[in-house]
Amino acid sequence: MPVLDSTRPYLLERVGEAAVVQLYADGFSRLSLRDKTLCWHLYQAAIAGRDIYYDQRYAHNLAMRDVLEAVIRFPAGIPDDVLAQITHYTKLFWINTGPFNNLTARKFVPGFTRAALAAAVRTAVASGATLPLRPGETVDELLERLDRPFFDREFEPVVTSKTPGAGRDILEASANNLYDGVSMREAEGFVERYPLNSRLVKRDGALVEEVYRVGGRYSDSISRIVGHLEAACAFATPAMAQALEALVRFYRTGETAARRAYDIAWVADTGSDVDTINGFIEVYMDARGAKGAWESLVYYVHEEKTAAVETIARHAQWFEDRMPWDPRWRKPQVTGVSARAIEVIVECGDSGPVTPIGINLPNDQEIRETYGSKSVSLSNVSEAYERSTPREFRREFSWSPDEVERAERWGAFAAELTTNLHEIIGHGSGLVDESLKGAPEKALKEHFSAIEEARADLVALYFVADPYLVEIGVVPEGKLDEIVTAEYEAYARNALVQLRRIREGSQIEEDHMRNRQLIVHWLLANSEAIQIARRDGKTYYRMVDAVAFRTGVARLLAEVQRIKAEGDYAAAHELLETYGVHFDPDLRDEVVGRVDLLDLPSYTGFVMPRLEPVSDASGAIVDVAISYPQDLTTQMLEYSGRCGGS
Ligand SMILES: [Zn+2]
Repeated sequence: MPVLDSTRPYLLERVGEAAVVQLYADGFSRLSLRDKTLCWHLYQAAIAGRDIYYDQRYAHNLAMRDVLEAVIRFPAGIPDDVLAQITHYTKLFWINTGPFNNLTARKFVPGFTRAALAAAVRTAVASGATLPLRPGETVDELLERLDRPFFDREFEPVVTSKTPGAGRDILEASANNLYDGVSMREAEGFVERYPLNSRLVKRDGALVEEVYRVGGRYSDSISRIVGHLEAACAFATPAMAQALEALVRFYRTGETAARRAYDIAWVADTGSDVDTINGFIEVYMDARGAKGAWESLVYYVHEEKTAAVETIARHAQWFEDRMPWDPRWRKPQVTGVSARAIEVIVECGDSGPVTPIGINLPNDQEIRETYGSKSVSLSNVSEAYERSTPREFRREFSWSPDEVERAERWGAFAAELTTNLHEIIGHGSGLVDESLKGAPEKALKEHFSAIEEARADLVALYFVADPYLVEIGVVPEGKLDEIVTAEYEAYARNALVQLRRIREGSQIEEDHMRNRQLIVHWLLANSEAIQIARRDGKTYYRMVDAVAFRTGVARLLAEVQRIKAEGDYAAAHELLETYGVHFDPDLRDEVVGRVDLLDLPSYTGFVMPRLEPVSDASGAIVDVAISYPQDLTTQMLEYSGRCGGS
C-alpha cells in the first residue's frame, strides 16, 4: 500500500449543490515506463474527444463554453461581484458539461443578468479574448444567439425527457443534439445503419444519418483521437494493440461491424495492466436509448483489490445457476466475465467530471452473451467519495444510533461489494428471448436503461445476503448479517436522500435514480421490509426486516428479468410509472431543507490527475509525471486549450 498523505485535500470546494473533489492515482508512479508512456498517449486520446460530448449534449454548448471561458481567461476590469457570479455558473457548467443538471436533466440559469454578461464579455474582448463568432457575426449577434440558451429556463428546458407528458414526443421534448427536427415516430419508421454513432437529422423532409467518424461529423476531434491511439499501439500489449487497432478502424469507418470487432477484441484483452474505454458507449442521454454518448477513461489495475472482484467473477456460474428467476433465462454457460478493481487516471465526456463508480461493458447484448464482458470498479473514485463525504450525511437520515454505527463501520465495504456484484454478476447475467435478436433495448425503448439498472441492483441486493460470499472469502466470517443490514438500510435511506438532487418538479429523469426509487417503493408497497417513520417533523425510511427485504427483492427481480427477457414494454412502463418516476414534492422539500441546513452536496465533480511526459535531450520520453491540479478551473481551461488546438 502506498503511504497516504492524510493531509492531502479531497474536498476542494463547494459550488452550490455540487462538491468538487480531487481524484488521486497513487499506483501510477509504480508502473513501468512502457505502461506510463502508453497511459500518456491514451490520456491524450481521452481528452481529445471532450468537445464531442459537449456538442452531443447541447447544440449551443461549445459556443456557450467559449464565451464563459473568454471571461474567465481575461478577468481584468470585470467587477468582482460579477466575476464571482460568472465563475460560479461556469464551474457548474463544466461539472455538468453544459447548462443541464446531470441528475435532474433540467436547465439551470445564471445568477447574473444578460447585461452583466454582455459587459463582462466586452471587457474580456478589450483585454484580448477571442469569441466563437460565426463569419460576419458581431458580438451583439453572438450574445443574442445564446441569450435563450443561457437565460431562458423554459427554452429547451430538459436535456433528456423520457416522460414528457401525454401527447408530447420524447425526442422533440429533449434538448440534446442527438437528433435534429426528428420525432420518435419518424425515427421508429426509419432503419438506421449507424444507430449508435450518428446524429439523426431531418433535411428537406428526409431523414439523414450524420455519422461520427473521420471525414464525418466530429472529424477533427476523431482524427486527433485516432492519432493518439495509433501512437499508443507501439506501447500496448499485443492483445490491447489489437483492440486499439480495431477501435481506430471503427473511428475511421463508423461501421457497426468495426465496432463489434472492437468490442470483441476489447473483451478478449483481460491481461493488460493498463486499459482504456474510448468511444460512443452509454445510451442514457438518448430518450430512445439508441445513441451512444462519447466518453473516455484511462486506468490501470489495482492489484490488491482485484483479488476480491476476481473471486466473484470466477464464481459467476454459481450465481447464474441460482438467479431467482425463471430458469429459462439463466445462462447455461457464463462466458468470460472478467472483473478488476482499477485506479482511474482520467475520465472525460460522459464519464467526467461526474463519474460512475463501476462500469460493465460492452453494452451490446449479443456480444455479452457470446464473448462475455469486462467489469471494473473504480476504487480510487470510491475512496475519494468516501473521504469527501461529511459524517452528518448518514446521521441525519438514520433512524437510530445503531444504524449510524453500522453505516460507519460497514457502509464503505458494503457499497463496494454491492457495486461489484451489480457490475460483475448483475449486468453480465441472464438471457433474453431469441425473438429480441439480442437487442432488448429496442423493445423496452426509453425504459430499457432504468430496467437494466434495476435488474443489476436487484441481483446485487439478492446475493449480498448469500452465505456463499463468506464461503468464497469475499465477506469476513461472522459479519454477513451486519453487512447485509447496513447495505439494506443504506439502500432504503438512499431513496429518500436522493430526492435532494431534484429540486424542481415531481418527476425523476435519471435512470439510476429511477431504478433506486422503483425498488424501494415497490418494497414499501409489496413487502414488510421498510417502514416510513416520522419524528420531530422528519421522515425516515427504516429498513426493519432484512429477510422480507431479500424475499421482496427476489420477487421483483424475477419480474424485472422477465420484462427484459420478453421485451415487455407495457409492463416496464407500468412498473416505472407506478414506483420509479414520480415522487411527492412535499417530501422532497423536507429532504432539501434538511440537506441545506447541513450544507450537504447533491453530487460531485472530480478534478482528474494530470500527466506530463519527461523527455531527454533527444526527445525520447524517459518518464511520465503525475500531478494533481487541485483546482477545477485550471484543469477545465487546460482541457479546452488542448481540444481547441490542432
Ligand atoms: Zn449499472
